[in-house]
Order: sequence, then structure tokens, then C-alpha cells
Amino acid sequence: MSIAIYRSALIPTEGFIHGFPERGGGVSTGLRSSLNLGKRWGDDAENVDANRRILAAQVGYDPAQLVATRHVHGTAVWRVGEPLAADAEFDGLVCDRPGPVLGAFAADCIPLVFAEPQARVCGAAHAGWRGTVNGVAANVVARMVECGARADHIRVALGPSIGPCCFEVGPEVVAEFRAKLGEVPGLVVKGPAKDHIDLRVATRTILERAGVVHIDDAPPCTRCHPDRFFSYRRDGQAGGVHMGFIGLV
Ligand SMILES: [Zn+2]
Repeated sequence: MSIAIYRSALIPTEGFIHGFPERGGGVSTGLRSSLNLGKRWGDDAENVDANRRILAAQVGYDPAQLVATRHVHGTAVWRVGEPLAADAEFDGLVCDRPGPVLGAFAADCIPLVFAEPQARVCGAAHAGWRGTVNGVAANVVARMVECGARADHIRVALGPSIGPCCFEVGPEVVAEFRAKLGEVPGLVVKGPAKDHIDLRVATRTILERAGVVHIDDAPPCTRCHPDRFFSYRRDGQAGGVHMGFIGLV
């Protein structure tokens, strides 16, 4: 069974590989069935390594070229090649040379990929609500600009992630978004019980304030599609993890 890979039409097919693999086509079992790409929640590491190899073979990259760091819901961005401590934790990555494939893990959080076709720079990020509201996406843009990118040339695609339909939050979360972003139309959505936050609206707002104009922010909702996607809200840490990826070729 081949892996279904969700892709954004905004990311050029020439010069880049990218995608957001769906959950089928791997070897993990149970709620992690089957293409679980994350090790952190206790899946057998051999299964995860096998899944990463299956994905790499289908896409056509060397699995040893995958670059992924431990995510901490922070906003730090690593430029591939910079000196790196063994226990380094980054939620954003940038790269300006072919070879490395940047991975961003998520299961309801937003995996983001960034492509600047003229300067030939790419980036990836994991953004849960904390990373989103604290601006990890803008930090990736800033580090890409350091590599020669122009913000208005950068194309950003949001991968499958929890939609405004399902992202119910407490009043303290709503207050934090309002405090950091101000009153943004569509950011807070009335739910049946509590308010919902639209993380796509928040991400778009932050990216636009960073000078980005090319944004694909209409991915499917992970929680609404159990047949296609893992979801932390649905399955907790017994479930699997997706990985958005991008690389220069
Ligand atoms: Zn939903």
C-alpha cells in the first residue's frame, strides 16, 4: 500500500520535495496504525524507523538525510549546519542547501513548510498553540531572510492540523491570543460549549505581519478525519504522529 501524501499546490514541485503523509501505508499498529513517524510517545523505535524508510523510499530521498529535532512548543529555529548540542530542542528549522530533508512532527499541532524558490531556502516548523501565539512561524521567516530569502517570496503551507471546528480552548488561551495578536476577525470562534481558536487565522496573521503574502492555510482537520490522520485530541499519546517534510533538490 502506498502512502497518501497531502501536498500544497503553493510549494513549487521544481527545486523542492515536500509533503504531509497521511496515516496509512506503515507498519505500526493499534491507534498508531500505521504510518506513525514519531518516537516520543512510546511506539517501538523499529516500527518508526521502518515507517520513515518507507516514506523516504516512496518520496525518493535518503532516510539518513532526515533532519528533525526534539520539539518543545518553543520558538527557537535551528539553521542546519550550525553547531548543535546533543540535547538541542528546536521547533523550527531552516536550510539553504540541497540534501537535508527537514521534518516537523505534529498530531493536531500545525506542521508548516516554507519554500523560497529564488533564494533557494526552505524551512519547517511545528506549531501548537503556544508556538503559534509566540511566533515560531515568524522566527522561521526571519532566519530564512538571514539566509538570503525575501519574505514576500516565501511560500508557506500549513499541513493537516486541528481546525477551528475542533479546537476548543479555555478562556486563558483565548486571552493569551487576544493579548498577543489583538482583535483579529475569525480568530475566536464560538463553540457549543467553550470558545474555539482558529490556529490558521492566527498563523496567517503572524506570517502577514512578518511580510509573507503567499500562504496556503486550508488543510484538512486532523481530528475530523480519523481514517486519514492521527489526532492528539482524539487519541492522546496512545496515537501516532505525523511529519511534514521539505527539502531542496
Ligand atoms: Zn475538526
